[in-house]
Amino acid sequence: MTSVSSTRIRILDGETVNQIAAGEVVERPASIVKELIENAIDAGAAQITVEISSSRKEVSRIRIIDDGHGIPAGEVPLAFLPHATSKIQTAEDLNTCRTLGFRGEALASIAAIAYVTMVTRPQGEEAGTRVIISGGEVLEQGAIGAPVGTTLTIEEIFFTTPARRKFLKSLATELSRLSSVIEVFCLFYPEITFRYLLNGQEKITSHGTRTLGEVLRALRPDEAVQMLSIKGEDHGISLEGYISHPELIKQNTQRILIAVNGRMIVSSRISGAIRGGYGTLIPSYSFPVAVLVITLDPARVDANIHPTKREIRISDESEFLKFITSTVKETLQRNDLSHSVSVTERSELIQSPDTQMSDSVSSEYHVRMSPLPGVHEASLAGYRTTARQLRQSRLQMEPADSAGEPRFPSLTYIGQVAATYLLASNEAGDLILIDQHAAHERVRYDQLKREQREGTLSQELLVPVVLSFSPSEVHLLTELKSDLEEEGFHIEPFGKDTWCVRGVPVVLGRSEDPEAIKEIISGILTGGQESRMHESVSRLVACRGAVKAGVILTPEQGEEIISQLSYTAEPYTCPHGRPTIVSFSRVKLEELFRRR
Ligand code: ADP
Ligand code: MG
Repeated sequence: MTSVSSTRIRILDGETVNQIAAGEVVERPASIVKELIENAIDAGAAQITVEISSSRKEVSRIRIIDDGHGIPAGEVPLAFLPHATSKIQTAEDLNTCRTLGFRGEALASIAAIAYVTMVTRPQGEEAGTRVIISGGEVLEQGAIGAPVGTTLTIEEIFFTTPARRKFLKSLATELSRLSSVIEVFCLFYPEITFRYLLNGQEKITSHGTRTLGEVLRALRPDEAVQMLSIKGEDHGISLEGYISHPELIKQNTQRILIAVNGRMIVSSRISGAIRGGYGTLIPSYSFPVAVLVITLDPARVDANIHPTKREIRISDESEFLKFITSTVKETLQRNDLSHSVSVTERSELIQSPDTQMSDSVSSEYHVRMSPLPGVHEASLAGYRTTARQLRQSRLQMEPADSAGEPRFPSLTYIGQVAATYLLASNEAGDLILIDQHAAHERVRYDQLKREQREGTLSQELLVPVVLSFSPSEVHLLTELKSDLEEEGFHIEPFGKDTWCVRGVPVVLGRSEDPEAIKEIISGILTGGQESRMHESVSRLVACRGAVKAGVILTPEQGEEIISQLSYTAEPYTCPHGRPTIVSFSRVKLEELFRRR
């Protein structure tokens, strides 16, 4: 990923400078550290040490020590001049540039705002050079004994720019940004040994002989167990790294780490493409955690669009993004995504002996003896409704799926809990709980999607249903009529405030009553103006037609739901991203009963 640049440092000509995205790169301690680590990597360092000292309120000193190729004595003062770089000579070199730096700005900007000491010695020179620069002026320069490599010490940070100093966040925030910068370098450069010390205390060490996966496990052991490895290749693009199990999600994209050709970047479009691969596996407005190493022809990548080089442009981007989405999707489909009960949740499952003895618990037992709230008594009508719902999803599954493989091995059905959860076990002896509504909802949703793809969307009702709507609903109906038609509803004005429904989506079934049709259409109308109408309609229809929670099922019906679920593409969550399957592994059961 890196290439060692050993050409001379020179000042870029005006024309080249004009073609390079200009702007401030040193906003805070973390950005200084980022620029200096990049320089060390560009210098071919195998070992990079970051030492940070802080006062009570702020970062007081940054020191970066590398064992890279150093700077020849004669070129040291040049390194601190604006637009001085050894990495490119002309704007054309930008197309083939494989180094992290190329603007020749970082050292100049840092020297302008702080007190900087550099000690550097290249291989082959007998002595090193020490230079002290403050506020952009060289205060001292001379020969000094030094190991091969470069050490930069930055003190009195932002002393020339008190305004910027004021904009810094609390010490804790600045330090956390700083350590995440270092963490990201550890991940994307597992072959380099990084050490990070804060006030003399070792905070992060990566041993430089690791793979990305090993670094991930070392840095974030808790998260690493929830990460799935991903790998793909297509048309000269290669993608490698880790994406999170749908259980591990965040509210923003901050934990999606991406390196393109060794350069860490931030791209809402790439993050969006990764998110897209999760589809309904995670709730809307949530994002997975990911660490992705992407490699492609450098000629396709333009890093010169933002001064911090954090953004890039990629040619043929939509094809590239599609590849990412499909690779993420395939990876998720290959893995067992059932939600497992982690050992940390165990404490909630074990009641402490003293609470078990107390009266409050015995009265609780009493309450539990009576039917749970929301549980409907088993009745013939209830049985018939369930039977019809299951028959609909069964019939419509068969043609497409009888040839397909189930997504999980068959389970032994045990029974139903709280008229809501199906209890089962697998061959390995794990205990499996399935939410009957969420599971059937997933089945219906998949079916609906398939029908939408195949175009067998709508079915005529034997007897058209006439519904009345409020004036505001009528207004929306007129507006959304064609959208509704795309979803499978054939609906037309019938009289004042009444509309006639002649066709409904196939998944709703023929015997659907007017109440239900009205409920779904009204639901669409209230949520219908959002851009993802298609999606919300599918979810609504899937939900409406699914077996409800609180309905008592026969063993055959329970088995049927599990079997239908096993043939869906993404059985582990419902279309809203909630889990359908929770498993207690046999090992965990043994732990719970202290058999281990
Ligand atoms: P850029 O990295 O864009 O070239 P910088 O201002 O960061 O610009 O650095 C200027 C030059 O100083 C680099 O091109 C490189 O030749 C030299 N340099 C900076 N840091 C180091 C280092 N740690 N080891 C060797 N050379 C360095
Ligand atoms: Mg640089």
